[in-house]
Amino acid sequence: MATSKSIRLEFVTPERAIAHEDVDEVELPGEEGFFGVLPGHAPLLVALKTGPIWYRSGGEKHYAFISGGFAEVTGDRVSVLATVAERAEDIDVARAEAAKRRAEDRLAKPVADMDMERARIAMLRAIARLQIARLNRTRG
Ligand code: ATP
Repeated sequence: MATSKSIRLEFVTPERAIAHEDVDEVELPGEEGFFGVLPGHAPLLVALKTGPIWYRSGGEKHYAFISGGFAEVTGDRVSVLATVAERAEDIDVARAEAAKRRAEDRLAKPVADMDMERARIAMLRAIARLQIARLNRTRG
């Protein structure tokens, strides 16, 4: 059976549009693990966790940060409705480093369970942002 050669990626947050373009492949951080979408993928609706997303057009790979939301695969369209997301090149590294330090300080001086959990989640966001910014700088 013939499949079309590209996928339409519609990637937004409530604050901004991240990408509206035709791509060859997408990989997303699903709650159940990372999953890749190629043309002809079966329909799917998945919850997203905190982590990296990448999408590729030809040899060019683009990275972005995602935290929460949903992705829907229908036909040759991938709709990503992220709670929070930034393109790798838009990640403010100094801000992520500061967020990581704040979370580390809170985890080092625990006051309540609630603060610990919030600090742990903030730490995960900061670490993911720093990794994605680094991937973007070092990709070949
Ligand atoms: P911070 O403590 O620095 O605000 P956070 O993880 O609590 O970080 P979020 O709640 O995930 O921040 O995001 C709030 C808004 O700030 C979103 O619009 C997000 O895209 C943006 N944002 C947060 N951190 C960064 C960053 N390091 N670089 C670019 N944008 C960021």
